[in-house]
Amino acid sequence: MTATITKAAVIGSGVMGASIAAHLANVGISTLLLDLVPAKPTPEEEAKGHSTLHPVVRNRLATQAISRLAKIKPSPLYDDAFASRIAPGNLEDDLGRIAEVDWVIEVIVENLEAKRDLLGKIENHWRSGIIVTSNTSGISINAMAEGRSEAFKSHFLGTHFFNPPRYMKLLEIIPGETTDSGIVRRISAFGERKLGKGVVIAKDTPNFIANRIGTYGLLVTLQAMERHGYTVDEVDAATGPALGRPKSATFRTLDLVGLDTFVHVANNVYDKANDEAEKAVFAPSPLLREMVARGWIGEKAGQGFYKKI
Ligand code: NAD
Repeated sequence: MTATITKAAVIGSGVMGASIAAHLANVGISTLLLDLVPAKPTPEEEAKGHSTLHPVVRNRLATQAISRLAKIKPSPLYDDAFASRIAPGNLEDDLGRIAEVDWVIEVIVENLEAKRDLLGKIENHWRSGIIVTSNTSGISINAMAEGRSEAFKSHFLGTHFFNPPRYMKLLEIIPGETTDSGIVRRISAFGERKLGKGVVIAKDTPNFIANRIGTYGLLVTLQAMERHGYTVDEVDAATGPALGRPKSATFRTLDLVGLDTFVHVANNVYDKANDEAEKAVFAPSPLLREMVARGWIGEKAGQGFYKKI
């Protein structure tokens, strides 16, 4: 097994994937950043001058994510130049390159089937010694690993970073039933010493620890707002710096996380909860669902509870 982690691959270049890649680049790790091939342009898009797919367009999502990093304020990168340590690629053509890295981190959409399917594809290129982790917010690590070989499963676990990864100190580590304890120790030590995180080992329960509590708090606040007619501004003013919390209070946090992702994360608990009181809190919020249906999914779309101008 490789002793140190010097090369990584992050799969998924959205809100978290791009920022995790930036954090790895900040500490000197060469990072491959992969995402899907974007859908072919529609006839309307083509009429507007979008060409059919060519190599640059093929890894457009990851390439665009890297160029966005320096524009986010405060930037996920310690130094703009560190972006050169991140190599963009596309999942279809470049997944084989994960055989060259020490650590693969899955950071795609919060959906069990999509993650399971991707892990199968990762295993096709995997060799013993490569650690594979998921940044899931709360999907079962054991469920994700179903169908994988015992050797692969011994190298697979959850590494849950918090948003924004450059600033949030917590890293939850979630071993699966058959994760090798040496791998858990190794990634924990790496997280603490190299990535500067505080590690908490969590059991493989829905939403683990921090999101079980944090999602609950956000949903209860949202329900109180609707019940009592509070405004978004009032809630953020009362739940942010005035309470000693960062400026991204309730609704700014939801916009930062992404409402689509937040709805999936709430559902992770709702689908598994036996407790009626907990089920009532985690029940799908009509307001959030309506906003997601309209595409008002937060900062990544330019519109959530707040509009980006
Ligand atoms: P996102 O929607 O910003 O990005 C998801 C990325 O996954 C996109 O770039 C998309 O192209 C890619 N993708 C979607 N479906 C795919 C598939 N089937 N195969 C391969 N790639 C696919 O999401 P995000 O906020 O970055 O979340 C990613 C993961 O990190 C999720 O598991 C989420 O729960 C977790 N997470 C999110 C946050 C947060 O604050 N947003 C915090 C901690 C953990």
